Amino acid sequence: MSARETPLSADTLPPEDRALVEGVLAGRRRALAKAITLIESTRADHRARAQHVLNALLPQTGNAIRVGISGVPGAGKSTFIEALGVWLIGQGHRVAVLAVDPSSSITGGSILGDKTRMETLCQKEEAFIRPSPSAGSLGGVAEKTREAMLLCEAAGYDVVIVETVGVGQSETTVAGMVDLFCLLQLPNAGDDLQAIKKGIVEIADMVAINKADIDPKATAVARAQWKNALHLVRRASPNWEPPVLALSALKKEGMADFWAQVEKYRDALTASGEFAQKRRRQSLAWMWQLIEAGLQQRFREHPGVRESLPRLARSVEDGLTTPAAAAHALLARLQH
Ligand code: GDP
Repeated sequence: MSARETPLSADTLPPEDRALVEGVLAGRRRALAKAITLIESTRADHRARAQHVLNALLPQTGNAIRVGISGVPGAGKSTFIEALGVWLIGQGHRVAVLAVDPSSSITGGSILGDKTRMETLCQKEEAFIRPSPSAGSLGGVAEKTREAMLLCEAAGYDVVIVETVGVGQSETTVAGMVDLFCLLQLPNAGDDLQAIKKGIVEIADMVAINKADIDPKATAVARAQWKNALHLVRRASPNWEPPVLALSALKKEGMADFWAQVEKYRDALTASGEFAQKRRRQSLAWMWQLIEAGLQQRFREHPGVRESLPRLARSVEDGLTTPAAAAHALLARLQH
């Protein structure tokens, strides 16, 4: 290993960052919030500092169970996460809640974050709640959330919940960063058909029908439909059949059942070796995503590419050059 590749320990950090690392390790929420702000910064010097802080903390990460929760706006995500979080704290857990909300970068507003959310959970010493970063693309938002998740683990949170809205790509992205991905559904048939169309069923490790208190009969129908739908898709693991639960987040009913399933999942996949395997796969996929994003940025910033791109793009638009020939020529510019 060359000197450049040697992982940095906390001892080699400047005093300000060492204090940050120590604060996170001591589980201080202010230090954790500050460290997350550092990783969310787009300034190049902050990025470099953030990577050193993360590297120093890396040995202390990985000890939480990572749970993804997705659902359409109004499904009851924040009500559920608050009820579950409070219940978990009652069981002796420490709970961090993060969010991936790509809408915040597109609209400037946020589907997840505008209203005052999870007020009871917020006030608990054992909870840490952080709204979605609003850094550019979904990939950018997801990268920051992944890093924030590691920081929360280093700070001793043993449950990390990542929330996202049931629109577009964000569900697949969140499923790619958590151990268990749960769809929070409403008891009406329209939803499951949509989910099947979007290919979301395949990535669900668990389905929870919320608002069961409103209409128990419709909830029973929805559960049966979901069980059928889940039978039709190929299972992610031979050792896990995704369960379909009924809950009432408002009445705080079903929390113990929900958590029993999360633990069952972790135990089953740990016993088969798939739990660790999934994390290894996710880490590698993350590395490749960053490489691809980095290569694309270098490509776009390369002077030769910038010089040739407008002309070749026009030529492709006008049907004078094939897309393949143009791509080949542009990639060749990278060598000069
Ligand atoms: P989110 O947009 O998915 O975060 O949904 P919210 O948690 O903000 O919930 C949307 C609305 O549904 C709120 O008015 C909640 O009080 C209500 N709600 C959430 N869970 C339940 C439930 O289990 N039963 C009933 N009756 N209402 C619920």
